[in-house]
Amino acid sequence: MGAHFRVMACMAVLAVCAVAQAGETMKPRIVILATGGTIAGAAAGGTQAAYRSGQLGVAGLIEAVPQLQELADIRGEQVANIGSQDMSDAVWLQLAGRVNALLSSSDVDGVVITHGTDTIEETAYFLNLVIKSRKPVVMTAAMRPATALSADGPLNVFNAVAVAADPEAAGRGVLVVINDDIHGARGMTKTSTTDVQTFVSAERGLMGATLYGDNRYFRHPYRLHTVDSSLSVAGLESLPRVDVIYISAGFSADLIDAAVANGARGIVTAGVGNGNMNARALDAVARAIAQGVVVVRSTRVTSGTVGRKVEIDDDALGTVASGELNPAQARVLLKLVLAETSNPALVQQYFDTY
Ligand code: ASP
Repeated sequence: MGAHFRVMACMAVLAVCAVAQAGETMKPRIVILATGGTIAGAAAGGTQAAYRSGQLGVAGLIEAVPQLQELADIRGEQVANIGSQDMSDAVWLQLAGRVNALLSSSDVDGVVITHGTDTIEETAYFLNLVIKSRKPVVMTAAMRPATALSADGPLNVFNAVAVAADPEAAGRGVLVVINDDIHGARGMTKTSTTDVQTFVSAERGLMGATLYGDNRYFRHPYRLHTVDSSLSVAGLESLPRVDVIYISAGFSADLIDAAVANGARGIVTAGVGNGNMNARALDAVARAIAQGVVVVRSTRVTSGTVGRKVEIDDDALGTVASGELNPAQARVLLKLVLAETSNPALVQQYFDTY
């Protein structure tokens, strides 16, 4: 081979390398924030129901799915390692601060958060209200621990990264990707204690679906979220106490009085039917409101909306109707809104808008 051809061949090889490198650097940069949950859980064997959440670290979650490297440049951070039954205001504030900081950086294209399934609907909705970025924020979880036969975590992590790396996911608020479904944060809920197909978005349906990273989107969020939300964690060091109280036939109204006596600034009732409660409960609610506590009527029923003035005169009583928000998500919104107002009419406006 002559010198000229050798130079040409070298240049061709360099060009291929440069293109390959450019291809490398063009991969989306995704940060995985791990918080624990069953997805990081471990059992003594592959077929045991008993296990402990939050045993595996973020490096282990990433190593379990080498295919992630095909989708994105990945790095991980451990924010917490808890069962999500122990999720708290403090971790929410820490997580929101970290996600906002990461997404404000030009070298991060999206964030994936691994979490337990028990309270993922609360964390997702919280972040949906306070993250100030249009970049994808995708949460995922698993019903089976990492050690289980047919663990569902690895594919959920793969799909979550595929959605976080997808420009089409941007601007849809916080998403929860699990079992091939893409849920919007608002309105999704856990429906089975053990079934892998546990999450449903009953009222408005799925935001989309994914199959081995092939994503399809069906809709956009229909309420304010992220950059359009006026709610924020800036300057917040804590959140007010809001209690959820489950109503039943023969309900003991003194539970409402106890919440107020113990410092609740808000109460969400998981009422019967359309947010109903017995006469004793209504009296206790009136006492709570007289002391400045905001009372939101939600329902223990799994779908449908709680409307104003159906069987309870909210105008006369001073209560707020939760609309489509279940008690857990209504509690999240009320905690954030109480930083702005305790006026029931204004609180109602938030529940009609967020
Ligand atoms: N208790 C677990 C948790 O929420 C359940 C799960 O992740 O599936 O952390």
